[in-house]
Amino acid sequence: MALIVQKFGGTSVGSVEKIQQVAQRVCETAQDNQVVVVVSAMGKTTDELVGLAQQISSHPSRREMDMLLSTGEQVSIALLSMALQALGQPALSLTAAQVGIVTESSYSRARILEIQPDRVQRHFNQGEVVVVAGFQGITNREDLEITTLGRGGSDTSAVALAAALQADYCEIYTDVPGILTTDPRLVPEAALMSEITCDEMLELASLGAKVLHPRAVEIARNYGVTLMVRASDSDQPGTKVISPFAQARSLSGLEIGKAVDSVQLDTSQGQVTLLRVPDFPGIAGRLFGEIAGQDVDVDLIIQSIHEGNTNDIAFTVDQGVVNTAEAVASAIAPALRSADAAKEAEVMTKPRIATVAITGAGMIGRPGIAAQMFATLAEAEVNIRMISTSEVKIGCVIDEADSDRAIDALCDVFSISASPVSPHAHPQNHPPVRGVALDTNQAQIAMRHVPDYPGRAAKIFGKLAQENISVDMIIQSQRSRLMDQIPSRDIAFTVSRNDAELTEKILQNLLPEIGAQDILLDEDIAKVSLVGAGMVGNPGVAAKMFSALAQQQINIQMITTSEIKISCVVAKSQGERALQIIHEGFDLGNY
Ligand code: ASP
Ligand code: MG
Repeated sequence: MALIVQKFGGTSVGSVEKIQQVAQRVCETAQDNQVVVVVSAMGKTTDELVGLAQQISSHPSRREMDMLLSTGEQVSIALLSMALQALGQPALSLTAAQVGIVTESSYSRARILEIQPDRVQRHFNQGEVVVVAGFQGITNREDLEITTLGRGGSDTSAVALAAALQADYCEIYTDVPGILTTDPRLVPEAALMSEITCDEMLELASLGAKVLHPRAVEIARNYGVTLMVRASDSDQPGTKVISPFAQARSLSGLEIGKAVDSVQLDTSQGQVTLLRVPDFPGIAGRLFGEIAGQDVDVDLIIQSIHEGNTNDIAFTVDQGVVNTAEAVASAIAPALRSADAAKEAEVMTKPRIATVAITGAGMIGRPGIAAQMFATLAEAEVNIRMISTSEVKIGCVIDEADSDRAIDALCDVFSISASPVSPHAHPQNHPPVRGVALDTNQAQIAMRHVPDYPGRAAKIFGKLAQENISVDMIIQSQRSRLMDQIPSRDIAFTVSRNDAELTEKILQNLLPEIGAQDILLDEDIAKVSLVGAGMVGNPGVAAKMFSALAQQQINIQMITTSEIKISCVVAKSQGERALQIIHEGFDLGNY
């Protein structure tokens, strides 16, 4: 007999008939298992409640909003429980207060602190199915103030309950068959994945978030909960979301867990940079294609915004093959001469560098973490040569001589006691490419000619974090130019388009203090990301992606990579096409 948490979304309980169908399914599972059910509000109920409030006030109190919105789930738990009883299945409904789902006291976006398992346990030990209201919590057991977890939060309730009850697994029933390789509205060939890791799921946030709340994935990953995402109107198994073998964690402060859960150090790499590469399609594809042809695996790739009409492309490889990579780059360089540039591209090699990285699902939605990392490195007087970020990882290339100081400082500030893990320590048996996602809601901002001293990046991203602006895809370029005798680099990143103007204003105000030259804002961009846990040690994935883009004459404006993700910024008008041809290029439709 297994203990299973089943969560049903709003569409799955959208009508009386549907509630009865859900009850049937729950009944079947309950024949030989213990079942806890979590439900959302029926259909569009929550939206309708929001609409009612807006008719009364444009700024309703957040406390009253939570009081109002939490009622939607109370309707569906009672009805489902009745439907179960009508089928002869003993069942009872419980609100978050009755279960004891304790959250922070921030209304409308509370994080879960703790779930008391005893009452739920007591009921299912008596053979009852327990139906719990998703999306809601209480601040504490005295005041019983009602909170909500934020829109879409009932996934989070379900996975948190599964963690607290140590359920065997958690099924998320929804109106799609599972997680698809890409957005089916843009690519009709999108195929169902049979499985995906939590890390991949988080990196594909823009793709998966519609199906599964990222906070739910974060809890699953931290507590080792296996998720099944499946359609409520079919018997197909859907997609299994696999979590790593979780370390034992305390269940108190459940969602507040540390934002950073590992510090990584890699001193096995060297860096090759191609400076002043003409800015037209095909260069990155050719370069990395030839490198992959030599069976050399590239770790980090960074291409920052262009300067005039040229780009710099920097990458790291194992020290043992730096010479091979350098030779390939040098052979290509003479052919790379931009139309008006007098100079051809130039190769620069640094045979030994170190990469320090912090990882953790909890960085999502906490804009201060990157800033904190940069500030910590600055205080330790570590200069950052390159930066590359993804959703759940921030990596910095630094001088090898600085690595001990960097690691000590980072472990200290993020309270990581274990020795730093090496990023390549866990060989995985996963396909190199799992899915591809398009994000068209970002804008690209660059601050050019930032003096190359420790502390500049910290200042910029610290300021943005104060304003609660989440930053994605931070890239610090390799090219160091002299500006008034001072070496300088460009720092580019993307932010949500809604934050673009504010970000630009903040940076303008910072310019004099930082001593940088100017700010460039580009709102017409799209970001395409390719994700796969098996791309580590699989030369050629990046080259294939870049070449696919080049064949369609799509110019790449920025590149950044993490271990399991490659992201490219392209012109907004080409985003959908880029998504389609990458999906096709990797044959993801025949998953
Ligand atoms: N009913 C809530 C909402 O619509 C929670 C959920 O459905 O997950 O956001
Ligand atoms: Mg949902």
